[in-house]
Amino acid sequence: MSIIKLHNNYFKPYISKEKVDETVKNLALEVAKDFKEEIPVFVGILNGSFMFAADFIRHYPTACEVSFVKLKSYDGTNSTGNVDQLIGLNEDLTNRSVIILEDIVDTGGTLQKIYDIFKNQPIKTLKVATLFFKPDVFKKELPIDYIGLSIPDEFIIGFGMDYNNLGRNLSSIYKLTTQKMTNIVLFGPPGAGKGTQAEHLKTKYNLVHISTGDVFRYNIKNETDLGMLAKSYMDKGDLVPDEVTINMLEAEVDKNLDANGFIFDGFPRTTSQAEALDAFLSKKGEGINGMIALEVPEDILVARLLERGKTSGRPDDQDETKIRNRFNEYNTKTAILKDYYTNQNKYFGADGVGSIEEITNRISAIIDTL
Ligand code: AMP
Repeated sequence: MSIIKLHNNYFKPYISKEKVDETVKNLALEVAKDFKEEIPVFVGILNGSFMFAADFIRHYPTACEVSFVKLKSYDGTNSTGNVDQLIGLNEDLTNRSVIILEDIVDTGGTLQKIYDIFKNQPIKTLKVATLFFKPDVFKKELPIDYIGLSIPDEFIIGFGMDYNNLGRNLSSIYKLTTQKMTNIVLFGPPGAGKGTQAEHLKTKYNLVHISTGDVFRYNIKNETDLGMLAKSYMDKGDLVPDEVTINMLEAEVDKNLDANGFIFDGFPRTTSQAEALDAFLSKKGEGINGMIALEVPEDILVARLLERGKTSGRPDDQDETKIRNRFNEYNTKTAILKDYYTNQNKYFGADGVGSIEEITNRISAIIDTL
């Protein structure tokens, strides 16, 4: 949920503090296994590695030395062009094992310079330990001896890494996003409580709630063309055809483009609706942050819907056959969306049995991590 803005760009949470801590610790223990017999010298490359180096050293279980250097590129005054120099390295490293601590290796440009500088020094060995590594963009043949986490080619900040000098103080990792909105798909079978929860969540997170069922019912009440079209399907508990529903949904989103984000309730209900939603949002530089599914046993649902039918006036709530048909539609056409969002690591289940407040709290705990 907590997208942050630095300069003119937006960054969203990517790797948790806990995951980073665990990775640093494992890396320190892995390196320590190889240097049981000697006291290595760790050399952190400033500025980005200061936090990684500090935590790494804290976790390093045996004797070690630590130093920091900065890589500086001068415009060479001779024919060799640019000259790279390490500044700050005052120790005598003769015959020592030197382990470079890097926050991130991407194309390998910096690493190449470090190797070039150390190759003429009388040290015993040179090893490289990096917290993050981007294999997809690494262009060099150089060895990287210890890797914390390999990540796709994302622009990341936090834990010492910056975007134009900001973001170093974040204790977890964020990645650049063009997405400014928080968009949630609230999911679950009819009667799961999506509408009730959406009402609470929209206020709490300042989101626009779009319930496709409500939009259809509004159109039916006002006898619009869309309402007339949808009515026959809805009355039976069948799904309204995708094309109609998708066009209507897009029009609702377009009406609220300055929103903080949306809670989609009752949409998407089919894979083609989910694909259409992704395509539509991505054209706007936006996307779905997560699907939150309310999980409720079917018997409780039937009882809830029949109870609601006594007061809602909804024909599809008053007859158990229609209710069962809606479950059937859900189980055959809609439930597969769980896989669609699971494949994108965006599916989150929430226990939908309990008091309204308890359930809101469960959902909020999920939204806060998105
Ligand atoms: P709901 O209020 O979400 O239970 O929706 C009531 C009815 O509206 C459903 O049974 C469908 O007939 C129709 N409907 C709502 N959302 C959709 C959708 N995304 N796709 C197709 N039909 C929908």
